[in-house]
Amino acid sequence: MGDERVEAMEIDAQQRQEVAAAVPDGFNADYLRIYYGKLFPYGDFFKWLAYGNDAKHPGCDQSYIGRRELSFTLENDIYLRFQSFDTAAELETSIKEKCPFKIDIGPVYSVDPAKRHAYAQSGNNVFVPVERELIFDIDISDYDDVRYCCSGADTCLDCWPLMTIVIKILDTSLRGDFGFNHILWVYSGRRGVHCWVCDSRARKLSNEQRSAIADYFRVYKGGENSLKKVSLTGPVLHPFLARSYTDVLKCFFEDKLLHSQQLFASEERCQKILELIPDENVASELHDKCQGNRRSSISKEDVNAARWEQLKTTLQSGKHKTQGLRRCVEEIVFSYTYPRLDMEVSKHMNHLLKAPFCIHPKTGRVCVPIDPNNCEDFDPTAVPTLSQLLGELNAAGMQIDSENDWERTSLEKYIRFFRTSFLQPMLKACKEELETAYSAKLQQSKNTLSW
Ligand SMILES: [Zn+2]
Repeated sequence: MGDERVEAMEIDAQQRQEVAAAVPDGFNADYLRIYYGKLFPYGDFFKWLAYGNDAKHPGCDQSYIGRRELSFTLENDIYLRFQSFDTAAELETSIKEKCPFKIDIGPVYSVDPAKRHAYAQSGNNVFVPVERELIFDIDISDYDDVRYCCSGADTCLDCWPLMTIVIKILDTSLRGDFGFNHILWVYSGRRGVHCWVCDSRARKLSNEQRSAIADYFRVYKGGENSLKKVSLTGPVLHPFLARSYTDVLKCFFEDKLLHSQQLFASEERCQKILELIPDENVASELHDKCQGNRRSSISKEDVNAARWEQLKTTLQSGKHKTQGLRRCVEEIVFSYTYPRLDMEVSKHMNHLLKAPFCIHPKTGRVCVPIDPNNCEDFDPTAVPTLSQLLGELNAAGMQIDSENDWERTSLEKYIRFFRTSFLQPMLKACKEELETAYSAKLQQSKNTLSW
């Protein structure tokens, strides 16, 4: 590339930024209308939810996509549930027309949810959910007792790594322990992440099976009032928990969280950790040691590491290696780092979950997919906002009826990731399953005929 072109590109980028700045921050129906008009990836979205049933293959279930519930939340919190669509074009028309502030995805029902009343009257078709991705919903606001930088819906680069840990732990286990392959992680736009397990085996799980999987991940017991939220029982740690601890949680706690959250920096914070130690004598021994080194020469930066080392040494010394304290170090690490799932969302098929590529009304950020293999690089503060995207569109010059306007915005890499890393491999698997099932059906009817 010649120098002149490089120079021209630099000017171009600079100009683009200037124009981008010309679209004021915000979230409103006018902005959203442009987003839905030019950027929302209808085709990919529809192909995902059709799971191969929109193709010409004779084995397709033509009714499949039309039995999926989408729910729209309109401006002023008007709530339209049980929307259903037979084609991508229908979906696109409806979204453009209604301009939903939020789109949620529900289950696939036994019958078209939009016609559920008619079916109820006829009495022979029960309206029940029959399929749904296995989903996980994680909110960083559930970590307020272990983060000191933010609270509630706020998040920053010091506490966001807690979400990265969720992705690492769950993704590894869902693939390794459960054999799922088609897993989509999505930034919720503000305070957390969503996980969609889309393998057909996952979509067909019963509520009981979903509960069993959710329970597999549960170490976090007791409610708000229970001080000790993690209790690791049994003679040895379950292999999944042992692996999570040694491969991810321990390093994260010691190398990152300890310092980024200053976990031992004040008496109050020390006390909170010491409360997790079931033996009062040991806890008060450690409390005295903390008091002692408060007056010593340990610099402020080292105090967290020093006190943690002290705690570990004390708890793991021969003197205290009794049954109750054996797991205490692990339990503290789990309490501060282990994924906190909203179990109810995972257990039932009929929970709604916000669709990817929606815009979060409070932040204006797009709910973009996250690559689990590079989740530590994901920066929620760098996710494109609605106004930024419109600015980029302006800068690129609006072309009427341009097919892929998103290619000229920073949404591009997210849509490409969705398409190539998630959608394409998943549709390939769907097609193979469809063909296997179809030829089995043909074979069966052949056998029946030959009788
Ligand atoms: Zn924070």
